[in-house]
Amino acid sequence: MMIETNKSLLPFHTFGAKVKTAQFSIIKSLDDLKEILDTTPSKFMILGGGSNLLFTKDYDGLIIKNEIKGFEVVHENNSAVQIKIGAGENWHETVLRTADLDWQGIENLALIPGTVGASPIQNIGAYGAEVKDVIDEVEFYHHEKKEVMVYSNEECLFGYRNSIFKNEFKGKITVLSITITLNKKEQWAFNTSYGIIENTIAEKNIQEITPKTLAQVIIDIRNSKLPDPKEIGNCGSFFKNPVLPNQEAQKILDQYPEAPHYKVGDDYTKIPAGWLIEKTGWKGKSKGHVGTYPKQALVLVNNGGATGEEAWDLALTIKQDVFTKFGVTIEPEVNII
Ligand SMILES: Cc1cc2nc3c(=O)[nH]c(=O)nc-3n(C[C@H](O)[C@H](O)[C@H](O)COP(=O)(O)OP(=O)(O)OC[C@H]3O[C@@H](n4cnc5c(N)ncnc54)[C@H](O)[C@@H]3O)c2cc1C
Repeated sequence: MMIETNKSLLPFHTFGAKVKTAQFSIIKSLDDLKEILDTTPSKFMILGGGSNLLFTKDYDGLIIKNEIKGFEVVHENNSAVQIKIGAGENWHETVLRTADLDWQGIENLALIPGTVGASPIQNIGAYGAEVKDVIDEVEFYHHEKKEVMVYSNEECLFGYRNSIFKNEFKGKITVLSITITLNKKEQWAFNTSYGIIENTIAEKNIQEITPKTLAQVIIDIRNSKLPDPKEIGNCGSFFKNPVLPNQEAQKILDQYPEAPHYKVGDDYTKIPAGWLIEKTGWKGKSKGHVGTYPKQALVLVNNGGATGEEAWDLALTIKQDVFTKFGVTIEPEVNII
């Protein structure tokens, strides 16, 4: 196993902060992972595509980049197909690959950066879909038990941008693969309920919805709204949308009847964090080398030469401003390292 030292992390995360790691290694198999863990690093973390984290300083441990590949059909019948996918596969390429095969189920999650292995960690979601909707099992290696374990969908305790892997198992496991079930043509069940999806389908005059055409609609929508990390450093939505007890949300709605809001069960209401931030006046504004994206205030962008520390400082200012204005605490979706 090769371990590099004093390595720049610039190519390995999407925010584009100039940080280094004391040690860096790439794993391509479970054996690689076991071997590297046997060197008993005092401090280590698993890295996927680096699109959901912010390095606020140099990392003084070992970064293990997961490049475990694989794409294998486990079961198949006329209506569905079950696939096991390696954690190091690129998520978006996997969406395109399955859409090309006319398998339906993850097309709404097109263009989300990062790896397959990170997808269950925060239960990635977009446009009315979440990865938990298709996951059957998650296979992972438990670092302390030194054991490969397989958890069913229920055992993963998925929630909104949440799972057991972000809580009880945080830092204790490495996801090796996920197993998902997708629909074949006779079972296709597209989710086009989001207004913007319906509008785009109508605008583009799309006659036949297939996994491929819908994935392309999502790609077009996302390209028009979100910054491409290859051009503008960012780590996606910086904060989670707060889910408030109805009574608390109603206080905001009484004052701002136009506020977008979504029911979550009978007792809770979700208010977009991007809207709250916009109302504090931060949309499109910058502080130092960091700002919020002019088209989406929820995304913090690196205007060039920003440090992670600066971004975190701005995030805390925004968090405080939202609390002062609305009495709502917004929590980061991004992993702060
Ligand atoms: C432009 C942009 C748009 C985005 N849009 C969305 C969106 O619509 N919806 C959404 O949900 N997210 C979105 N994200 C966030 C991000 O893409 C996802 O969270 C993605 O799943 C992160 O994958 P990654 O491989 O880059 O993870 P990383 O950033 O590398 O890691 C994230 C966390 O997971 C851990 N981790 C990674 N891989 C493993 C593994 N194999 N085993 C154990 N732990 C692991 C890391 O240690 C870290 O704590 C967006 C990000 C960007 C930059």
